[in-house]
Amino acid sequence: MPVITCNCNVCQSADAKDKRLRSSVMLETGGNTFVIDAGPDFRQQMLRKNVKKLDAVLITHGHKDHVNGLDDVRAFNYFQKCPIDVYSQKDVQDILKSFFFYAFEDDKYPGVPEINLCAIENKAFKINDVLITPIEVMHYRLPVFGYRIKDFTYITDANFISGKEIDKMKGSKVIVMNALRRKKHISHFTLDEAVNILQELQPEQAYLTHISHQMGLHADVEKELPPFIHLAYDGLTIEL
Ligand SMILES: [Zn+2]
Ligand SMILES: [Zn+2]
Repeated sequence: MPVITCNCNVCQSADAKDKRLRSSVMLETGGNTFVIDAGPDFRQQMLRKNVKKLDAVLITHGHKDHVNGLDDVRAFNYFQKCPIDVYSQKDVQDILKSFFFYAFEDDKYPGVPEINLCAIENKAFKINDVLITPIEVMHYRLPVFGYRIKDFTYITDANFISGKEIDKMKGSKVIVMNALRRKKHISHFTLDEAVNILQELQPEQAYLTHISHQMGLHADVEKELPPFIHLAYDGLTIEL
């Protein structure tokens, strides 16, 4: 946000919280730095937060707005002198191999990103001793992975979560959840749908992400929400 060519009051808003890059989150835990999704704004997001080290990237699904920035891990390759581990479901690996075919050729052009694909399934795994639990959500017909790391859960691009997967989110202190807009959408939760799930789970704090300009002004929507639910905004930092 703003959307190219859009003249609506949200896209034209002067409030910094109405300016949003593509959805992503960076986690720092036990000396590790992980990023969930590397969309087209990954480079800008890394520069903005002055990130100097990256241990792994976790991918939710293979849509362009979540993976298109992976080419820019080359800067971390260069300074860390190693490939970057990228965790995803098996079918997402095939998508990444086609989007970034040049990074997976046998005879690579010098300087291409070095991506080490790590396949995960819907069961808990560890990266450097940090336990990560995938949460399988549905994005219309596409299974997407959300992730729980300790008391933090991040869900994006969902419009359905089964009871079994909701159970894995229980007890999270902070939940980030996608909410696209107010009107029904084929593959994303609406504001009401996301709020209803969060009301049920009752985390200490919840933040809505992947918000369209059709949601309205940040300041207006924020006033309508239950006290523990907020709209996320770029640069938001949470300590746990
Ligand atoms: Zn998507
Ligand atoms: Zn998306």
